[in-house]
Amino acid sequence: MAAITGAYGFRLAGRGQPLVRQELPALEPAPDEVVVRVAGCGVCHTDIGFAYDGVSTRHPLPLVLGHEIAGRVVAAGEMAAAWLGKSVLVPAVIPCGACPACRAGRSTICSQQFMPGNDGDGGFATHTRVPARGLCAIPDELPAGLTLEMLSVVADAVTTPYEAIRRAELSVDDVAVFIGVGGVGGFGVQIAAARGAAVAAIDIDPERLELAARHGASLTLDAKAGFKELKSAIRSFAKQSGRRNVGLKIFETSGTPAGQATAFGLLEPGSYLAVVGFTPEKVELRLSNLMALDATARGNWGCPPEHYPAALQLVLEGKVALGPYIERHPLAEAPRVFEDVAQHRIKRRAVLVP
Ligand SMILES: [Zn+2]
Ligand SMILES: [Zn+2]
Repeated sequence: MAAITGAYGFRLAGRGQPLVRQELPALEPAPDEVVVRVAGCGVCHTDIGFAYDGVSTRHPLPLVLGHEIAGRVVAAGEMAAAWLGKSVLVPAVIPCGACPACRAGRSTICSQQFMPGNDGDGGFATHTRVPARGLCAIPDELPAGLTLEMLSVVADAVTTPYEAIRRAELSVDDVAVFIGVGGVGGFGVQIAAARGAAVAAIDIDPERLELAARHGASLTLDAKAGFKELKSAIRSFAKQSGRRNVGLKIFETSGTPAGQATAFGLLEPGSYLAVVGFTPEKVELRLSNLMALDATARGNWGCPPEHYPAALQLVLEGKVALGPYIERHPLAEAPRVFEDVAQHRIKRRAVLVP
């Protein structure tokens, strides 16, 4: 199988350091691997965490970060030959398919999983070598307004809230509350609305709230309003929505201590709390509220690859709009873009385009 030469990527050399451009060695897929020519790779806050917040990558640095990858298969091992030439989404978490967790249907906690940009070089690059297992095919003909590089964000920012919503069994009978409606939360709002739930969005950023109101949220609330006001506004929204199910379904998508405290505070009898966002910070909670309220809290580490096609379908059908939530930047500017995302100077999901 021909190796791909001339590829380059941006590696994180050490904590707190800028990304540096490096030529990659010839990329030759193993029998069960493919080499993907990257069309786009989204920048996730998990990447920022690796660089600045003391979160360790499982593969030692230096490492090409990036786990939100869409592209085209340009080389394939013999067992993966059917993928050659196909457009694909690379799942952010690629399970082994054979370990006890995978066999038990819990593939997101597979101990042998491969996460690009964490277990090996990722997508801030022209090309990346990944296992073929779990790849999600993207049709060659895309609807107007969608491009392959835009679809990169489906690999994590769309599928992770998709999986949280799927596990919550969110339906037309539910009221959903999203705390933090940037990329991940903004997609979550749209997925929840597509499932027919009545959706409320909370954020500190008026622009994000406005966007959420145009894309799925029936109620938007400024987090700065104060907790009491938030709680009573959501209570009357839930009442007026006339939904049958008891208990709010709350999605913490901000990944901030303040957002987590708000999410926990909104629990009521029978509520369900999905922890979708990540922060290394701690929050003080009275955990016994879960017991007293007969409530459920649950997290999810990504999304099993078998659910990617359904999440992608929502985007292809126009039920989840990507365009307003992302912005494209040349891969060559990766160090500057990465820094801007870390400093919150970029509000939308940044996609690096080689
Ligand atoms: Zn991510
Ligand atoms: Zn496994």
